[in-house]
Amino acid sequence: MFKYLLLLFSPGLLLAQKKMDPKLTEVWEPIPEVIVPGSKGIPPSDAIILFDGTSLSEWTNAPTGGPAGWTINSDGSMTVKPDGGIQTKDEFGSVQFHIEWKTPKEIKGQGQGRGNSGVTFQRRFEIQILDSFENPTYSNGQAASLYKQYVPLVNASRPPGTWQEYDIIFMEPKYDLDGNQIKSGTFTVFHNGILVLNNVQILGTTEFRGYPKSGRDEISGYMPGKSLKKNIYIQDHGNPVSFRNIWVRNL
Ligand code: MG
Repeated sequence: MFKYLLLLFSPGLLLAQKKMDPKLTEVWEPIPEVIVPGSKGIPPSDAIILFDGTSLSEWTNAPTGGPAGWTINSDGSMTVKPDGGIQTKDEFGSVQFHIEWKTPKEIKGQGQGRGNSGVTFQRRFEIQILDSFENPTYSNGQAASLYKQYVPLVNASRPPGTWQEYDIIFMEPKYDLDGNQIKSGTFTVFHNGILVLNNVQILGTTEFRGYPKSGRDEISGYMPGKSLKKNIYIQDHGNPVSFRNIWVRNL
């Protein structure tokens, strides 16, 4: 290390650096794909649209596997109907995910019982949705937590009855052919545009009771060498939370 530092600061190297053609450090390939960025309420051009206000055709009722039956509202949103969570028909690996959500304006319940839902990636890792506006609960279970694993950096919640949004970057964990984890998964989450989870390492599966299941237990049912892709799931926690403008980009 010390030798390397000496080399870095050696006059010869500095001189050589000064003489270097700047073109030597230019990277021209690959050329990033040109996409049209989104604007308020409009997804980017390369997004997979999961819900645009017209139908739940991209979703199924998770417990039954039948059609998703949550209520579609005239304002382009949908609302939880207490008949079970919904999940995407498609399965996903690492993604950028956008969702807008609104907890009921009329405050009912408290703590975890108030405006509770959540988005679960690969049916294992839940980013909490909760009315966390002046509603104390355990910090690692409030809105924008990686449930029972990471506390959000700040509470960026808007009042109940107001639209909020998450932009989530989920990087799936990686395993070797024997099912041993070789790389942890991570989450980066923006809540209403504010960074609240900064590249945190997933500790294991989201568990209501007990500790996250990690290692091989994190991927029970997984076939070595097969894709870890799984559905994205939105929780029915018995509260009429609404959603709109849901899209995803594969990473
Ligand atoms: Mg939840």
